[in-house]
Amino acid sequence: MKPISKIAASVSPSATLAVNALAKKLKAEGKDVISFGTGEPDFPTPEPICDAGIRAIENGQTKYTPAAGTVSLRKAICARVNEDYDLDYDESQVVVASGAKHVVYLTLAVLVDPGDEVILPAPYWVSYLEMIRLFGGKPVVVTAGEDQGFKITAQQLEDAITPKTKAVLLNNPSNPTGAIYSEAELRAIADVCVRHDLYIIADEIYDKLVYDGAVFTSIPTLSEEVKQHTVLINGVSKTYAMTGWRVGYALAEKSIAKAMSSYVSHSTGAPATMAQCASEAALQLPQDQVSAMRDIFESRRNYLVKRMNSLDGVSCLTPGGAFYVMMNLTQLFGKKIDGEVITDADAFARIFLEKSMVAVVSCTAFGAPDFVRWSYANSMENIEKAMDRLEAFLAKVKEQN
Ligand code: PMP
Repeated sequence: MKPISKIAASVSPSATLAVNALAKKLKAEGKDVISFGTGEPDFPTPEPICDAGIRAIENGQTKYTPAAGTVSLRKAICARVNEDYDLDYDESQVVVASGAKHVVYLTLAVLVDPGDEVILPAPYWVSYLEMIRLFGGKPVVVTAGEDQGFKITAQQLEDAITPKTKAVLLNNPSNPTGAIYSEAELRAIADVCVRHDLYIIADEIYDKLVYDGAVFTSIPTLSEEVKQHTVLINGVSKTYAMTGWRVGYALAEKSIAKAMSSYVSHSTGAPATMAQCASEAALQLPQDQVSAMRDIFESRRNYLVKRMNSLDGVSCLTPGGAFYVMMNLTQLFGKKIDGEVITDADAFARIFLEKSMVAVVSCTAFGAPDFVRWSYANSMENIEKAMDRLEAFLAKVKEQN
């Protein structure tokens, strides 16, 4: 048989699969595994949103929509960003697709030629790296360590630019770090992008999950020029607990939106019509339902961070947003537990799961090999239980070394 395409062969399978597979196996054996791996809210989709989806089916909204999404959903998206950020877009600048992940994919499809460089701050969401490669692009990783709050500086960005640089992929608030760029930090980065005529691919899917009363700055609000350079990406998955509905969207210059829409029209077509109707309802809901979920995430974050930092052997920064905590493992590397050495984050994730029945995600594949990521999209009861297990695990490590 002839080989599959070179590009497809070069794409790595998800690095988190091994631990997920082990967690599933242990669960199937009846073990009490608690999982902190998933990046989805544990809340059900709010009832009025589900009702809108059901109503859509009952009303016969079961046929194709325009490739870029229904006009009414695109208008609702424009109204939402206008109310939230005072941003002016019209519906011809909006493309709806099957989740924000698909929107990132589409954006790269229309912006990246083979050989183009895309600057990717690390730690990064694992899918970005592979998606850039899928289009023959070259990810140029710029690392922002814990010492700089996991945020790149404008100078680091400037230093990474070459004549081949086409775009910067900025995820704010970040998965996996939860870091949020301040307005001043964003402005410095955006200035560099505009000066070098780079596209800003701004994945702001966690924009509503910010804590400590922080005000989130959406990058296209900085200036008209920044807005022109930006493809703004968001979706309903995280904000409205709608991960399974598969609706995300981009707002961009008309020519880019048009190209994305053409790409959609020849590939997946628009997302399911009833999911678009439900998403429209979500965007039009009184948004205090969103703050109720946000408040719950915030109290879980506070507990998790405080407890983690009270333990010997691990530490974490307090993330300002999203629902992830990066646990620093450097003090544990080289230590033994029951004869096994914790050599790296992958080893920690496996051993911790085997011994304590808690699944966390190694950040090796996220460009942060000294960390594991905890998602606190999990109940407080499970978080408390997992912290007890972490405490016992670390006590054992201390005892044995
Ligand atoms: N962007 C980031 C940064 C994410 O963490 C995720 C979900 N893990 C997505 C996009 C994808 O979201 P969606 O469900 O809308 O595809």
